[in-house]
Amino acid sequence: TTVASTAALTATIDLAAIAHNVGVLRATSGTGVIAVVKADAYGHGAVPVARAALAAGARELGVAHITEALELRQAGIDAHITSWLHTPSTDFAAAVAAGIDIAVSSPRQLAAVVKAAGEAGVTTTVTVKVDTGLNRSGVAVDEWDSMAVALAKAQAQESITLRAIMTHLVRGDEPDHPLNSQQAERLDDAAADLARLGAPPQLMHLANSPAALVRPDLSRDLVRPGIALYGRTPLPDRGDFGLIPAMTLTGEISLVKKVAQGQGVSYSHTWIAPCDTVVAVIPAGYADGVPRVLSGRFEVLVNGRSFPAIGRVCMDQFVIDLGPDGGGVTEGDVAELFGRGDRGGATAADWADATGTIDYEILSAIRGRTVRRYI
Ligand code: PLP
Repeated sequence: TTVASTAALTATIDLAAIAHNVGVLRATSGTGVIAVVKADAYGHGAVPVARAALAAGARELGVAHITEALELRQAGIDAHITSWLHTPSTDFAAAVAAGIDIAVSSPRQLAAVVKAAGEAGVTTTVTVKVDTGLNRSGVAVDEWDSMAVALAKAQAQESITLRAIMTHLVRGDEPDHPLNSQQAERLDDAAADLARLGAPPQLMHLANSPAALVRPDLSRDLVRPGIALYGRTPLPDRGDFGLIPAMTLTGEISLVKKVAQGQGVSYSHTWIAPCDTVVAVIPAGYADGVPRVLSGRFEVLVNGRSFPAIGRVCMDQFVIDLGPDGGGVTEGDVAELFGRGDRGGATAADWADATGTIDYEILSAIRGRTVRRYI
């Protein structure tokens, strides 16, 4: 089947920007990059982003779920992939068969991986994810000793190869907070425990985007950036580090119409025309990642000019005010919702600020009916 080209929205992904950002991160961190492409590469499309990042010198890939890792393998990507979020029903056999590096967070997960490797008759590569303070995923403090022993035993029995030890920062976005260094020390201590038991990990990694940009002392063997890869600074107060935003979100104007003074627009008529005016419909709404709480609080760029969104953002559409003269806008013109922000338009960070969230959430919500175009 062919997919119709008339999408609600088009997310144009600049793969040269991804490549550039990999270069920035290699330079700032002084080490190798694990490109974090979970959640469909934060809404940018995992397979094309992974390919572009690897071609630009990223050394490995990182994802949350094994299903995400398998999607990359099925696309023919044979780079090293680490996957770090599992449940008791996760298909470790498929991961073992596909040569995925499984990051385990508990002795139960390790046992399940050892079982899957045993059934497949192979030695499988494992990373251990240590909880050094986030109290989310990672081996809990009270389970560390038994986990270390179990890892060393599995390594000695050649059911696994312990490759790496990783942790995730609590306050990466406050890079000078002492907890960052403390977490690194706890990871170093965990590696030393494993070495004492005869199973030293070959590699260590903990730095996310902010740490990769400004804390090279935390780099260890690899860094694990996500958001910076996509060109968004995780530390806006410290600048953009020369990162280039990769995604520009545009929509084709579906309808232009007149609205008389005093008429309301969209659900509940929260916007009333102050004069006779011309409005345009953009066929994208909250189901496409345009937050409903942005209703009446953002502008889009059409032919280089800014026009305000008016009234409620609906599930599939929202309306902009073109003004009494219609602004020279016609049906089929393209509205930029967010992009690099270099031509007066909004950025994903502007949307995040206006909705009380972070640009991670804005970008990763761009999926579903939106068609991605790669340049
Ligand atoms: N490492 C892990 C374990 C993660 O969960 C994430 C994302 O949250 C990252 C790295 C990348 O973080 P960031 O996008 O802040 O660079």
